[in-house]
Amino acid sequence: MRLADQVAQLLDGAGDDGVAPIVVAGDPVLRTAATLYDGELDRATFAALVALMRRTMHKAPGVGLAAPQIGLGLALAVVEDPGVDHPDLAVARERFPLEFRVLVNPRCEPVGDCQVGFYEGCLSVPGYAAVVARFRQVHLTCVDDDGMPVDEVLTGWPARIVQHETDHLVGTLYVDRAQPRSLAASASWGGHWAAEPVPRTAAAELGFSIEDS
Ligand code: ZN
Repeated sequence: MRLADQVAQLLDGAGDDGVAPIVVAGDPVLRTAATLYDGELDRATFAALVALMRRTMHKAPGVGLAAPQIGLGLALAVVEDPGVDHPDLAVARERFPLEFRVLVNPRCEPVGDCQVGFYEGCLSVPGYAAVVARFRQVHLTCVDDDGMPVDEVLTGWPARIVQHETDHLVGTLYVDRAQPRSLAASASWGGHWAAEPVPRTAAAELGFSIEDS
């Protein structure tokens, strides 16, 4: 199916709230490398797609959404993070607000070899969280929603978010990179580990390592 037809179908299929259903793990679209966007959509349709993804991300709520998560195998993602209220968490995780961004055909290259391990989750793997070591700093290159080139270095949680989203665009889920023994159901994570700035006690009590991360 042509991309424009796929997008038209997604827009038509959105609920009354203008939100698309989120595809969950087990669907092949989440395991397939996305196609690079080559300007196939007219400006209004592209803007409508981005708006659909943004509403869907907000409603979830999440801090990033890649097109495969609404069933579209296109190298496109949106990100936006209001940050966290608690200053200890914000500092430990370097999680500061990230303004809304559109990433077209994004690529991430590590800057340095420092990796940091924190709990993360995914809208396509609902109900769980696990610790993933990710590069603390990455070089992001992509095109924005105005077709302008982006070339910048991101640090901390924004770097984590764009690594998670660019992984989606090559068919990788965070669980592929997670420490298996860190896996926590949301209720358990919320009760035990959500408030721990760095998952050291989680590592000790669940039996995984964050030393390498
Ligand atoms: Zn995800």
